Amino acid sequence: MTEFNTRLIHGEAINDNSTGAIYTPVYTSTTFAFPTADSSPRWDYTRSGNPTRDYLEKQVAALEGGEAAFAFASGLAAIHGVFSLFAPGDHVIVGDTVYGGTWRLLNSYFATHGLTITAVDTRDLDAIAAAITPQTKAIYFETFTNPLLHVTSVKKVAALAKKHHLLTIVDNTFLTPYLQQPLALGADIVLHSATKYLNGHSDVLAGIVVAKTPALAQRVYFAQNALGGVLSPRDADLVRRGIETLSVRMDREQANAQFLAEFFNDSDAADTVFYPGLPGTDDYQIAQAETNGAGAVFAVYLNQAYDAETFVNHLQLFKLAVSLGSVSSLAELPYLMTHAELPVADRLATGITPQLVRFAIGLEDQKDLLADIQQALAAAKQ
Ligand SMILES: *Cc1c(COP(=O)(O)O)cnc(C)c1O
Repeated sequence: MTEFNTRLIHGEAINDNSTGAIYTPVYTSTTFAFPTADSSPRWDYTRSGNPTRDYLEKQVAALEGGEAAFAFASGLAAIHGVFSLFAPGDHVIVGDTVYGGTWRLLNSYFATHGLTITAVDTRDLDAIAAAITPQTKAIYFETFTNPLLHVTSVKKVAALAKKHHLLTIVDNTFLTPYLQQPLALGADIVLHSATKYLNGHSDVLAGIVVAKTPALAQRVYFAQNALGGVLSPRDADLVRRGIETLSVRMDREQANAQFLAEFFNDSDAADTVFYPGLPGTDDYQIAQAETNGAGAVFAVYLNQAYDAETFVNHLQLFKLAVSLGSVSSLAELPYLMTHAELPVADRLATGITPQLVRFAIGLEDQKDLLADIQQALAAAKQ
């Protein structure tokens, strides 16, 4: 088997063209001819399978170390596919700060279909154990939480889940297989909003599910084909193209994030910096043990001497925007933006205060990013 970076460029070739083209072909055809009526060709209809999507799926399966992968039209479509593996009456334990869209899908959609959910802080193994019932089928979480970047041990949670015959499902959007491969740490299913780092350029919505075993793969494939929320061939090609530069983007974005997190850590402008790349916390220890890096998202509590809203409104190079994982740096106020749907009391109880600023760092020069932050801090000083 080749090394990780080589595999970002060289997936399993589609190998059906005689042109010598280096670029992986994009097959936009929705239907494929049968040689004879009684044959069963590899591809017949693009919802059920498409060569360009297959290329991407096989590549991500290999990068995550899984049996097979399935590409969906968005991260939430992928999560929908995974939760459709469960039946009415089943119970799933879910990280208490999972992505807001995931929370809405579970509580406003799957709950009405009879799935029951218990939210726990997945860093707390006793809390997980206490939430397990005879109906529990799975534990679902994000290794790094959003926006406070708390870190859950995939190894420990998966070991606990195995003891109770539960599936471990990890949303690996923030880390990508470059920084963590949850299946190798014991998880059964890994999924992504490929909208973020895998695609990496803020121009495609996509989701991917990777299953560890053939039996799970078969169930996810059934859901993908039956629900129909598949990734289009053109978008599959863009994600494939983004993956080619995943490690070089991640290395640079992460180095930039570390630099800026250290700036805030040394500055009076921030009271607290949340970044698993800064030593001195449990989160740092777990990240050291189970990841190849701390990623490129961090958050800070600005000191009361600075007005956080004024700060983000004055950023120029940083775009004031939700999302993450792009080549361009973004900043946002979770209290007013990504987490505004939560009741105020819940926001405050989970640390999402009006002074919290989240940064998702891109590829720009550190000097320019720092200068932008410094001028916005000067404007925000009150
Ligand atoms: C964005 C995101 C999702 C949802 O993905 P979409 O592609 O927006 O549907 C799920 N999980 C995490 C961690 C995300 O950041």
